[in-house]
Amino acid sequence: SSKHDKDHRGVNVQVILRCRPLSADEMRIHTPVVISCNENRREVCAVQTIANKQIDRTFLFDKVFGPSSQQKELFELTVSPILNEVLEGYNCTIFAYGQTGTGKTYTMEGGARKKNGEFPSDAGVIPRAVKQIFDILEAQNAEYSMKVTFLELYNEEITDLLEDKSKKPIALMEDGKGGVFVRGLEEELVTTANEIYKILEKGYAKRHTAETLVNKQSSRSHSIFSITIHIKECTPEGEEMIKCGKLNLVDLAGSENISRSGAREGRAREAGEINKSLLTLGRVINSLVEHSGHVPYRDSKLTRLLRDSLGGKTKTCIIATISPSIHCLEETLSTLDYAHRAK
Ligand code: ADP
Ligand code: MG
Repeated sequence: SSKHDKDHRGVNVQVILRCRPLSADEMRIHTPVVISCNENRREVCAVQTIANKQIDRTFLFDKVFGPSSQQKELFELTVSPILNEVLEGYNCTIFAYGQTGTGKTYTMEGGARKKNGEFPSDAGVIPRAVKQIFDILEAQNAEYSMKVTFLELYNEEITDLLEDKSKKPIALMEDGKGGVFVRGLEEELVTTANEIYKILEKGYAKRHTAETLVNKQSSRSHSIFSITIHIKECTPEGEEMIKCGKLNLVDLAGSENISRSGAREGRAREAGEINKSLLTLGRVINSLVEHSGHVPYRDSKLTRLLRDSLGGKTKTCIIATISPSIHCLEETLSTLDYAHRAK
């Protein structure tokens, strides 16, 4: 079957690049732009001036979204096809990777929330994905069950964003069959998109409360929202089958946390706990893409958590976000390198 063909194609990692527009403040002070995006050629060019010499570097991606790209467009061209895979029983992960302030949360969550049944135009990947999954299931008249989890990983420690009060640390356990599970993590069964939006609100609120306490925690923490769907199917012979797919939507910690540790020079120095997950994620994706035998999943909590969704019968999409400003150039080059190497 076509599904088996896909299995044999092996790892499927896509890297998307998105450049945000200059902010109103940046425009007002005439911040120089050093990035140009060519969406048709799928290229991003960074212009660096060193000792009065101009150096252009060009990077190729699977898709490029320039500063004027819209949320709807990014969703339809990159995320929407992945949802079909999830409903076919694949585990898929969408990562937002980039320096703080470049649009990871804007891309994943969006600028505004759903209002009276309508999406604002800046609704991000998560609410759009939720809506489309329910639309497809309804159109197929499918029999299914769905559950969601929402957690945050900070300093290699997991916090449940769906649990109201408990402050007890949550444990990542091996299941003895090569898989992992998170002990004590709240799993909510959901039946409508609106229920998920409410759950998300709760999670965002918890994440943002923590932020004021731990000083900008969100720039150093990863958030993982996961939807698991079991769909009942009947084969033409009348046999019942359950297909299980999972979608992970991951807003990663700011990537400035890794470049400072010297990762850019390729010398993974004593990386602090914050960096460990980002560095390991890069290595895991590299070894999957290069089919280089050993995949170092075990080296960080992020990759252990996502192990069943990285490699094998899975799809991975990394949305790398950058700023066009000259003031971010060093971090931008670091992001372009990381994302480019991930291919
Ligand atoms: P991050 O999560 O990477 O730290 P944010 O998503 O919070 O960054 O984005 C920083 C600011 O830039 C926010 O005010 C956000 O609304 C704005 N922004 C980011 N990306 C875009 C975009 N593509 N279009 C318009 N505004 C954006
Ligand atoms: Mg953010």
